[in-house]
Amino acid sequence: MNYIGIDLGGTKILGALFDDNGTVIYKNKKKTKAKNGIKAVEEQLFSLIDDLTDKSGKEEIKAIGIGVPGLVDVKTGTVKFAPNIAMNNYPIGDLIRDKYKIDVFVGNDVNVGTLGEWKYSPEGKSSNFIGIFVGTGIGGGIIIDNKLYTGSGGVAGELGHMTIDSNGAICGCGSRGCLEAVASKTGIQAEIKARIKRGEDTDIKESLEKEGILKSGPLRAAYDKGDIVVRETVERAAKYLGVGVANLINIFDPEAVVFGGGVIEELGDIILPIVKEEASRYAMRSIFENVKFEKAQLGDDAGIMGAFVLAQEGVK
Ligand SMILES: [Zn+2]
Repeated sequence: MNYIGIDLGGTKILGALFDDNGTVIYKNKKKTKAKNGIKAVEEQLFSLIDDLTDKSGKEEIKAIGIGVPGLVDVKTGTVKFAPNIAMNNYPIGDLIRDKYKIDVFVGNDVNVGTLGEWKYSPEGKSSNFIGIFVGTGIGGGIIIDNKLYTGSGGVAGELGHMTIDSNGAICGCGSRGCLEAVASKTGIQAEIKARIKRGEDTDIKESLEKEGILKSGPLRAAYDKGDIVVRETVERAAKYLGVGVANLINIFDPEAVVFGGGVIEELGDIILPIVKEEASRYAMRSIFENVKFEKAQLGDDAGIMGAFVLAQEGVK
């Protein structure tokens, strides 16, 4: 019995064929072509699934798991809103199920990534586990009693939109002072820009003005060179992240919290010790003491590995 795991991203669709044990038998990728609209995305997705089912040969495919970057109703397998992949109230689960006659499970990409990191954690399996992914935005997933928690509407786990500073910066979601607004790369960028505007100088001013967006690489380089604006801004973001993590620890009493995403990959060795220190100040000691802080291990494969877990857990 085989499984298919798919990570449907804004620029590429990664797919893999797995055996029962989660070993990758075959892997492929296609361009998403989201700019060409939903029909183009659908064509790319189906041609990838065609290829993966072909490679399975006579071996039956038990289920397909898919992670998508947006709001998903996991109960119906409908993508409610995912502008990066041109999907709006799109019944992706039903469409694939009808075409291939295979069970399909759809999840939000960071929820699915959390499932992957949870299942394949080198520290061993935890029953209660939280994943936080810090990149352009902040997303995550919550595992309670060995199950991904999806909430009543199927969209739980929007960790990036917990309010950290009610007087803080405006967030992309329309609210104010969300964790994402103050601690994501977007939040770091906004703060650095504000300080430049106030007349402060920083090494990354030029690259920020030239590229328009902040890249993690130059940010890291400026940090290492001792750039004051960058140092203070990154440390400020890490402290906010620590406050958010303390809230999560107090509420969920997890065995482990895993941190991933582009910002953590580039700056994790700086950010994570600050997060841990700050979380220890705000979380209840008796709960905090038992929580393991882990760095995500799967990188780009978290999506397909998690999608496999989603599929396998789904048909259990
Ligand atoms: Zn928000």
